[in-house]
Amino acid sequence: MAMRGGDNAPKVVQGKGQAPKKGDANSVYEKVHNEDPNKIVSRTTYDKNGNISTREDYDHTHFDKATKTELQNHKHIYEYNDKGQRIGEKTVPIK
Ligand SMILES: [Zn+2]
Repeated sequence: MAMRGGDNAPKVVQGKGQAPKKGDANSVYEKVHNEDPNKIVSRTTYDKNGNISTREDYDHTHFDKATKTELQNHKHIYEYNDKGQRIGEKTVPIK
């Protein structure tokens, strides 16, 4: 994952709405809280094709079937085939 502030720092866009399905290649979309724009409620990263690569959620829980627990902060990881079609998703806790 690219580090912030380096020469290759990703472009970051902020907004109050849902992350767009397509973004600039390797960019980041941060959804901010409606009333408190300093509070980030989710962070979406886009892959080199502009598809959603991962989304970190901080504002809701996600029930993990494998461990039968409610994950607080969690990260959705999306997988695509060569045609750019989504073929899978997994969700992992954020430490
Ligand atoms: Zn979620």
